[in-house]
Amino acid sequence: MPELPEVETIVRNLRPLLIGKRILNADVHWARTIANPSANQFREQIRGKQIREVSRRGKFLIIELTTLKGAREKPYNLLIHLRMSGDLAVKKGKIKPGKHDRLILDLSSGRSSDSAAGRMTKASLVFNDTRKFGRVWLTENMEEVTGRLGPEPLKRDFTAHWLYEALHGRHRQLKPLLLDQTFLAGLGNIYTDESLHKAKLHPLTLSDSVTKKEAEHLHDAIQVILREAIRRNGSSFDRVYRGGEFQNHFRVYDQEGKPCPVCGTLIQKLTVGQRGTHICPNCQRE
Ligand SMILES: [Zn+2]
Repeated sequence: MPELPEVETIVRNLRPLLIGKRILNADVHWARTIANPSANQFREQIRGKQIREVSRRGKFLIIELTTLKGAREKPYNLLIHLRMSGDLAVKKGKIKPGKHDRLILDLSSGRSSDSAAGRMTKASLVFNDTRKFGRVWLTENMEEVTGRLGPEPLKRDFTAHWLYEALHGRHRQLKPLLLDQTFLAGLGNIYTDESLHKAKLHPLTLSDSVTKKEAEHLHDAIQVILREAIRRNGSSFDRVYRGGEFQNHFRVYDQEGKPCPVCGTLIQKLTVGQRGTHICPNCQRE
C-alpha cells in the first residue's frame, strides 16, 4: 500500500499536469469507488470545476476544485485514497477505459468553457485499481474525511515533545500505535519498521514505557526516514507503484535473513498485530 512518501511523490508528479485544468466530465466505471456522494451526484457536482491545487494529508491525495467563474462557492475537495492497488495517471486526450480503470476524469485546457478549445478533452486523469479497495470522496467539508487523522510527521506540530506526551497518553505497543492513522498520519508497514529500527526500538515496546531520549530518537528516525524516502521518490513494490527506489535502501523491511546494516545480525520477521514485522534482534531489544 502506498504510504506517505509514495503519495507525496504522486502529488509532486501530478501537480504540474493538473493545476488549472477543468473537469469536463467524469466516467465512473465502478460505482463503489466513489465513497461519497452517490456516483450520480459525483458526476453532476464535479462537472465544470477547475483544479486549483494538488496536495496530500496522510495517505490521502487532495485535489482542490473551484468553479471557473470564481463564484463565492466553497471550494470542493476531491480526496483519493489509493489503498492496496490504486494508481493515478494523466494520459493524453480522451481515452478508452482499460479493464481496471474505475474512474476517468476528462480534462480540458482550463480555458473558458465558451471557446471550442475549452470544450475539448486534452487529457484524462485515470484512477486504475485492480483490487477495488481504493476510494474517492467529493466534499465541501474535507474534515468529514480527514478530521480524525493525527498530525503530519513532517509538519511543525509533530515535535519530539508532542510524541513523548502522546506515547504516554496511550498504553499500546509501538508498531500498531504508529500504524494507527488517528495517532500519526502517513506511516504504514514499511516506514514504521524502518523508523523503529533506526530508533533502536522493539515494535512490541509499550508506548508509555518509552523514555524522553527514546521518543527523541523515534521522532528523528521517522523524519529522517520519510525525508530520505521522498527524496528517492518512495518505494516501488507490488508492481503497482513505480518509479521510486527507496526499496534498494531498506534497513529491515523485506530483508529477512539478511545482515542488519548496523551490526550484521540477521534480520528476523515477526508478526505484530497481524502485520509482518522486520527487526534486528540485536539492535531492537524487547
Ligand atoms: Zn542490528
